[in-house]
Amino acid sequence: MTGGNILIVDDDPRITRLVRRVAEKVGFSAIEFNDSIKFAEAYPTLSASLIILDLNMPGKDGIELLEFLADQRCESRVMFISGVDRRVLGTTEQLAESRGLKVAGMLQKPVDVAQLRNLLVDHAKTHGVPTVDDLDDALDSGIITVAYQAKIDISSGLVVGAEALARWEHRELGAVNPELFVAMAETTGRIDMLTRVVFEQAIQAAQGWSAIIPNLCVAVNLSPQLLADMSLPDRIEKTMQDQGFPAENLKLEITERGVMQDASRSMAILSRIRLKGAGLSIDDFGTGSSSLVQLYRMPFGEIKIDRSFVTDMLKHREAEVIVNSIIQLGKSMNLCVVAEGVEDEAVLNALRDMGCDQAQGYFINKPLPEPEFSNWLRERDWLSGRSNENG
Ligand code: C2E
Ligand code: MG
Ligand code: MG
Repeated sequence: MTGGNILIVDDDPRITRLVRRVAEKVGFSAIEFNDSIKFAEAYPTLSASLIILDLNMPGKDGIELLEFLADQRCESRVMFISGVDRRVLGTTEQLAESRGLKVAGMLQKPVDVAQLRNLLVDHAKTHGVPTVDDLDDALDSGIITVAYQAKIDISSGLVVGAEALARWEHRELGAVNPELFVAMAETTGRIDMLTRVVFEQAIQAAQGWSAIIPNLCVAVNLSPQLLADMSLPDRIEKTMQDQGFPAENLKLEITERGVMQDASRSMAILSRIRLKGAGLSIDDFGTGSSSLVQLYRMPFGEIKIDRSFVTDMLKHREAEVIVNSIIQLGKSMNLCVVAEGVEDEAVLNALRDMGCDQAQGYFINKPLPEPEFSNWLRERDWLSGRSNENG
C-alpha cells in the first residue's frame, strides 16, 4: 500500500530521524535520505504518498529537487521544511504549485512536533491511511477480527489445521491491508496487544473446531519483535491453560527474516515455547538468507515456502527449482514442509509429486471469518468422508 509511505529528504540525520519517528507514530512507514543525489537516484523505484523536502542541502538543494520532481510528473504530495525565513517557504510553495506539484504544507525549523503531527494526520485522512488512534480504537472495541485459512495434508487431502490471520475493517476506509497494520502495530508498540487479540480469538475458534474434526492445529503469526520478551512463553502457556487448550494443537509462525535478526536471543525464547509443547514454524521461507547451520540449530518443526515461489512455480523454472530444493532440504532435516499460496490444482499436483507435505492457499480456501470457516470445515469433512469413517 503506497498510501502509507513517506520519503524524508534532509541532509541533517537528526531531522530525518525525528520526522520518521513522528510519521511512524501516526501510522506511516518512512524512508530517510540524507543525500539529495541518492534520493533522486532512488526516486523512480519508490512509491510514496508524501515527500518531505528540506530546502537547504548540499548536492541538489530543495528547489532543484522540486524541479526534478515536477519533471518526473510526481503524483505524491510534497511538504517543505526549512530553517530559512517564511518568505522563502512562501515563494517555494508558489513555485511548486506553478510546476504542477501538490503541496501538503510548509514547516519551519526548528520542527514543531505537534504541528508536524497535525499535518501528517491530515495527510493520512485525505489519503485513506488509518492512524494509530484508529488502531487503538479498533483494538479496544473488538473491531480487529481473525480470518482462518486451512492447511491440508497433500497426500490425503484432509484438513490438518488452519492459520489465523488478523483482519481490520475500518469504519471509513474499509479493509486495511494486514501488512500495513501489523507494521504499524510493530513500530508503535501495539504488537503485543494485537497478538493477544488474535491469539485469544484463534484459541476460542480452534476449540469450536474440535467438535467437527478432532485435533486440528491452529497457527498464529508471531512478530519477531516479541521474541525479545522472555515472559512470552509463560504468557502463551497461561492463556492456553486458562482456556484448557492443548499446547500440541498450537503452532507459532515466525518469518525467516525475523528469526535471523537476533538469532541467539530468539533461540532462547523459541526453545522455551517449544518446551511448553507448542510447535514452531518458519514462515515465508526462501525470502531471508538463513544458513543451513542456523536452521538446523533452531527448534523448528515446520517450514512454509513463501507464496511468491509457489504461486509462480509452473510459470517460472527458477521458482520451481527453489520450491523443489526447499522441499528436499526440509525433508532431509525431518521438517514438515508447507507450501503457501497454492492457487490452482496444477500447482497442488506438482507439489504432491515433489513430496511436499502440506498446502495452503486460495485453491483450498480463502481466509474466512467464523462461523463461515467452521461451516466450510463441516462441509469439506463431510465431502471427504472422514466423518463416516469416524462413525
Ligand atoms: P503470512 O503469515 O505469510 O500469511 C499468508 C498470507 O498469504 C495471507 O495474507 C493470506 O491471505 C495470503 N494468501 C493465502 N493464500 C494465498 C493464495 O493462494 N494467493 C495469494 N496471492 N495470497 C494468499 P494476509 O492475510 O494479507 O496477511 C499478510 C501477512 O500479514 C501475513 O503473511 C503475516 O505475516 C501478517 N499477519 C497477518 N496476521 C498477523 C498477526 O496476527 N500477527 C502478525 N505478527 N502478523 C500477521
Ligand atoms: Mg503466516
Ligand atoms: Mg507466509
